[in-house]
Amino acid sequence: MIAPGAEQESSHRERPLPRPSVLASELRTRELAERLRWFVLMRWAAVLVTLGGGLVAHLRWLPAKLDPRYFVAVASMLALSNLGATLRARRPFSGAVAMRWFLFVQMLTDFAALSVISYACGTVETPVLTLFMLHIILATQFFPSRHSQLATLVAWAFACAPLLLEYAGAIPVLTIFDGHLKAQTSGDLRVTMGFVAGIGGSYGVCWYLVSRITSSLKRREHQLQEAFELLQRVDREKSLYVLRATHELKSPITAIQGYAYTLRDGYYGPLPEKALEVLDRIGDRCDRVTGKITDIIQLSRLRTLVQSPRDRVAVDLRAMLAVEAREAALQGELRRVAVAFDSSGPPVRVAGAQELLHTLFSNLLRNAVQYSREGGQVTVSLDRSRSVAVIKVTDQGIGIPKEHLEEVFEEHFRSPNALTHHPGGTGLGLPMVKEIVRIHDGQLKVESEEGQGAAFTVTLPLAGPEDN
Ligand code: ADP
Repeated sequence: MIAPGAEQESSHRERPLPRPSVLASELRTRELAERLRWFVLMRWAAVLVTLGGGLVAHLRWLPAKLDPRYFVAVASMLALSNLGATLRARRPFSGAVAMRWFLFVQMLTDFAALSVISYACGTVETPVLTLFMLHIILATQFFPSRHSQLATLVAWAFACAPLLLEYAGAIPVLTIFDGHLKAQTSGDLRVTMGFVAGIGGSYGVCWYLVSRITSSLKRREHQLQEAFELLQRVDREKSLYVLRATHELKSPITAIQGYAYTLRDGYYGPLPEKALEVLDRIGDRCDRVTGKITDIIQLSRLRTLVQSPRDRVAVDLRAMLAVEAREAALQGELRRVAVAFDSSGPPVRVAGAQELLHTLFSNLLRNAVQYSREGGQVTVSLDRSRSVAVIKVTDQGIGIPKEHLEEVFEEHFRSPNALTHHPGGTGLGLPMVKEIVRIHDGQLKVESEEGQGAAFTVTLPLAGPEDN
């Protein structure tokens, strides 16, 4: 199958590939953005837990003198700060550094909240101070080693602040049990400093262990990612090489065809009937090879294509499918294969590359007609479902044997029944379809059974609301 428009120069640039180090830093920013989203979600959970603590304190479910006002105040403070964080996280950051600063400020808020909660829970009377360790672990995930070390020191300061302020008499000594332990910490500097040192030590050990594990995992992950990017880069470069080499094959074949037709058309005198037949066959084979080369070139181009959102325009699929269906119907006329598409209805627009989408649908429709039996029917449908357009091309043709369903998208694959039904195919149309769907962030599905027809479903994200 020859892709229409394959000869035209692609309007989409084959971009120079980014260097692995650039890719790695992009990766880190992406990773950080992912963690930021997760962090904001976890904080909403923390707001709920704090409110739950307030309720428990209010209903006096625990044998402790807990004051619910502290919990409500902290939950409100966390909720407000997280609301701000949620809104800010929706806008892009200028880079990883800006994102880290933002996270650091959020952590400071959390430390303050934890400090108040630990004071409300009698500081050393409960294990609340261990909650600071969660943030130390998070800091090792978000920040480089030195910064996570700083975050650990800040956590230590916030954790010990209520204890030291109580000892200094700057705030009232708050106890939730019988007050025995608190009387010792607030009355004896050595006990207070013992706790301060113990807390610092456990936070330090926590930071050390987690940061060591995390940094070795991070290093491995980045090495793997860089190796993967490098492989992709090499693969693309190889495709470009194949593209150039294949392109060079085209001219001699076109020349052979030209010579054959010159002979056939009698420029060097009349030739016997048999020779004319052979020359015609040479011409046909040249056509097929050129078609195959065109498909290979188109496929390699698709593989090396990096499309940016700027290259996309709003394409009305309804109008495009109406044209494709008409063309496919003309192609099916000889074998009485009918093509049905209901073109009435509002436009359904996707953000895409017109030329590529045209190649995609014409390949699917040509296949549907090509692999239909005489008198068969091909149906094309277009639906919107939430944020996607769903296009389905169904035929009643020879179908695809179940065991080959996965393989039809592989280069040069042709199922045995297709080989006998239509010997001239190249096995490159569906790989092209797959690449175009990938470039458009869509999905592709095939359902079929041998002898029972086939249905190909393409799902493409709709264009923005301003275009639909
Ligand atoms: P070609 O059609 O040139 O062989 P494609 O890549 O378009 O190449 O298709 C690959 C293979 O998938 C075909 O050879 C055929 O075996 C199978 N195939 C594709 N579309 C259909 C269809 N509508 N019905 C049955 N088989 C199909």
